[in-house]
Amino acid sequence: MGLPEFDMIATDTVEEACSLFFGYGADAQLFAGGTDLFIKMKQRRLLPRMLINIKRIPALDRIRYDADEGLRIGALTAIQSIRDSTVIGEKFRVLSQAAGVLGTPQIRNLGTLGGNLANASPSAEFAPPLLILEASVRCVGPGGERLVPMNEFFVGPGKSVLSQGELITEVHVPDSPLRAQAIYLKHSLRTMDVSMAAAAALVLLDGDVCREVRIALGAVAPTPFRAGKAEEALRGKRLSGDSKDRALLEEVGRIAADESRPIDDLRGYASYRRKVVAMLVRQGLEQAIARARN
Ligand SMILES: Cc1cc2nc3c(=O)[nH]c(=O)nc-3n(C[C@H](O)[C@H](O)[C@H](O)COP(=O)(O)OP(=O)(O)OC[C@H]3O[C@@H](n4cnc5c(N)ncnc54)[C@H](O)[C@@H]3O)c2cc1C
Repeated sequence: MGLPEFDMIATDTVEEACSLFFGYGADAQLFAGGTDLFIKMKQRRLLPRMLINIKRIPALDRIRYDADEGLRIGALTAIQSIRDSTVIGEKFRVLSQAAGVLGTPQIRNLGTLGGNLANASPSAEFAPPLLILEASVRCVGPGGERLVPMNEFFVGPGKSVLSQGELITEVHVPDSPLRAQAIYLKHSLRTMDVSMAAAAALVLLDGDVCREVRIALGAVAPTPFRAGKAEEALRGKRLSGDSKDRALLEEVGRIAADESRPIDDLRGYASYRRKVVAMLVRQGLEQAIARARN
């Protein structure tokens, strides 16, 4: 099925984009990379009369880092640019990992970070890494600007806190604790597919003690989320470097699986997804701990 009829209007400022988006109301959608939007339009799940093309807003397509302010990624930054960024590769490697496994090269070149978050899919690739990095989303709308913590951004499948006329302008990622190590792991039938289950894990060791741990899961609940009980089970624990660690990390994985609320769908059964969560969390923690020890 082809695309339904629509009009498109382009803008090169955030202010005009907000005003147009607000003015057209439910008849409008923002157009960034179009990789999600056009699929939904072809499937008649979305029928906007007007697309507001925001790709020409130059200020939203950039990656900036400084030691005081941390990392700022503009909403229109392409997934591939995140993958290719040297500063992200060196300081926020978990974001490079997520970018590297999102879709195909074509999707990575067209798709944007803002579109990935605004789409609010439970399997949004960037959600688990941004949750463990305790990032915030800068949103601008007719009512002004606000910074929304990642753990408050998603409210349900396909639903975020964004209100009518509001757009994401950038994502702010604070510097992680020094020497913290983070890993992102995704499980899908084929690499290009959206995930059946995904986990991001961050570990900070103080000698043999796990000082800080953050675990976030994707595709196994109505929204991506932090697995707080699993984190509690590991925080402050001594890691002896022997077989006892494996038993502890398996237990943490089981707790994370219990915290998840997956559904049966085309991509997999809920019971299988829970098993995958337990495995991804254990493996992610093992890899992060191994890196932290080096
Ligand atoms: C074959 C294929 C494979 C895919 N694989 C994956 C995958 O593995 N992992 C994954 O997470 N996703 C995947 N996707 C989904 C999609 O490509 C990504 O979510 C992408 O990042 C969406 O960005 P976009 O710029 O194309 O969004 P668009 O399609 O342009 O927009 C999506 C929605 O977000 C809104 N929007 C866009 N930008 C903003 C903004 N700045 N502020 C507010 N609202 C905005 C739009 O109005 C629209 O409703 C896949 C898609 C396809 C077609």
